[in-house]
Amino acid sequence: MKKYIALLMALVMGLSVAGCGQSASSSASSEAASSSADSNEEEVWLPYDENLQKKKDDRDATGKTGAVAACSWYASKAGLEILQEGGNAFDAAAAVAYTLGVVEPYFSGLGGGGFMTIYNAETKEVEVIDFREIAPAAANAQIWLDEAGEMKQFEKDGQKLGTMSSIGGLSVATPGEVAGMEYLLENYGSDAVTRQQIFQPAIDLANNGYLVTATFKEELESEYAGLAAMGEVGNLYLNDGMPYEVGDTLTNPDLATTLQAIADGGRDAFYTGDMAQAMVDAVQAEGGVLTMEDLANYEVKVREPVSSTYRDYTIYSLPPASSGGTHLIEILNILENFDMANTEVNSADYIHRFSEAFKIAFADRAQYMADTDFAEVPLAQLTSKDYAASRYAQITDQSGTYTAVDAEELEHYATTSFSVVDQWGNMVACTQTINYGFGSKIAVPGYGFIMNDEMDDFSANPESVNCAEGGKRPLSSMSPSIVLYPDGSPFLTIGSPGATRIFPTIAQVIQRMIDYGMDIQEAIDCARIYDNAQNNVCYESDGVDAPSAEAIAQLQAMGHEVTDKGAWQLFFGGVQGISIGKDGTLRGGADPRRDGKALAY
Ligand code: GLU
Repeated sequence: MKKYIALLMALVMGLSVAGCGQSASSSASSEAASSSADSNEEEVWLPYDENLQKKKDDRDATGKTGAVAACSWYASKAGLEILQEGGNAFDAAAAVAYTLGVVEPYFSGLGGGGFMTIYNAETKEVEVIDFREIAPAAANAQIWLDEAGEMKQFEKDGQKLGTMSSIGGLSVATPGEVAGMEYLLENYGSDAVTRQQIFQPAIDLANNGYLVTATFKEELESEYAGLAAMGEVGNLYLNDGMPYEVGDTLTNPDLATTLQAIADGGRDAFYTGDMAQAMVDAVQAEGGVLTMEDLANYEVKVREPVSSTYRDYTIYSLPPASSGGTHLIEILNILENFDMANTEVNSADYIHRFSEAFKIAFADRAQYMADTDFAEVPLAQLTSKDYAASRYAQITDQSGTYTAVDAEELEHYATTSFSVVDQWGNMVACTQTINYGFGSKIAVPGYGFIMNDEMDDFSANPESVNCAEGGKRPLSSMSPSIVLYPDGSPFLTIGSPGATRIFPTIAQVIQRMIDYGMDIQEAIDCARIYDNAQNNVCYESDGVDAPSAEAIAQLQAMGHEVTDKGAWQLFFGGVQGISIGKDGTLRGGADPRRDGKALAY
């Protein structure tokens, strides 16, 4: 209660935190991020209002030179400072990624992984950097199953905490985060900023503290049982065994020391030696099979993006081991057959068309999608216009069912996505994760970070194309994407978390921007829908341009099951993106469904 009152006082008086890194440049476009008079104190932009409700406005930013859009003001600020100090988008992306791991430790961090789609302004090429986690060599399709072939539960002190694939040692895959960022800096980073400058904001926040947000508290509450039962993670993120309150200041000095060690020692500091041994010990103590060899052998993969066009705009996105880019393209290819520009947003027709396209994509996902190092995936077919036309031909004016197996509905809200554009026109779209909130709930003692539970993204069905195998990457939905104008110049960098809602969400935002000419923030704010092989249209019933009661009734008359998810739901992801106007104006957009904040200069 005392903290609550202190927070309200602080909010009313204009909250400030001492010593959290450098002051934001006064040229940054967010008013809330401007420096205070005392150089040791600065105002913190808060994603919630005086009633502790998430703010619906002030998420966007406009600039001419550079922009960062992340799911935390702290992270956007870290990236913007690197850009303003002369660093490029790739330097800034590493600073943003490491900062997110400090201030959103439930969504991503050193013990996780992800994917990045990058646009190189010099070569005009788009590449995908795959730093997805990899199954330990000893993993196999039976690893979590009992004799009857059923998934075992992970137990601690007699308490069942979840499936073996989602918590505890056997949920942990070999992390790729540090290898990914090191690859990025080594191959694309500039000499304009030092490694220390890139790591410093994250180190400062871990040492000096950052504020617990409403989203943080939601995650603490929803993952409380695991946090309370799993020892070290509770020491780090519970307050004497209880969730922290919104507005409390959290520090993690162990994580600051770990980040400094990586700043000094690079990839080897993480994947070999004492730190690696501490990870292996922590994971094996909870029944896992991660080894020093798995860590030492971790490999980043550079991949060609999947690509296609939507109304002559070129979309580049992720190939497997994410399903996201392929299905994003498949959905847009199907929708291209309809006159979407003259169809009202979130009308019954609009939702019906998206719903059918989503169901088709999920049918194909279940059938074909897996790590291409282990399975044949018909990528060319799934992303072709002819295939989309044949699928479009199956759509009627009634809710349809499409061939699918393995329908899944992941309800977790973890993961984070950010975008960066620099003064030279380099662009990054990056989505990173530790999978479920606080991942496997195994924190590495003395090092301050949490291991992922990415093994849960494999199918538990040993017959599935996406079954677990040593060395394989689990199937993802992440889809950080780059879009070019019809003339080939850069238009957009965008991504979202949200498990299987990711590519449906990104498809909606891109369609709204292209067909209706919506501004990026408008397209992000606009109410979202979702459907998959379970044939149930989930929708936001309130917020911006939400479907009317009449539209919902029409959908039901077409045979759709519908579920009202409320307004501004974490369920529908958290989009961050930056668009580039034809006159070069940068528009950063960030999602009010989470803690997103764009900054630009
Ligand atoms: N593990 C999920 C995936 O790769 C993370 C995405 C999310 O939960 O938002 O698809």
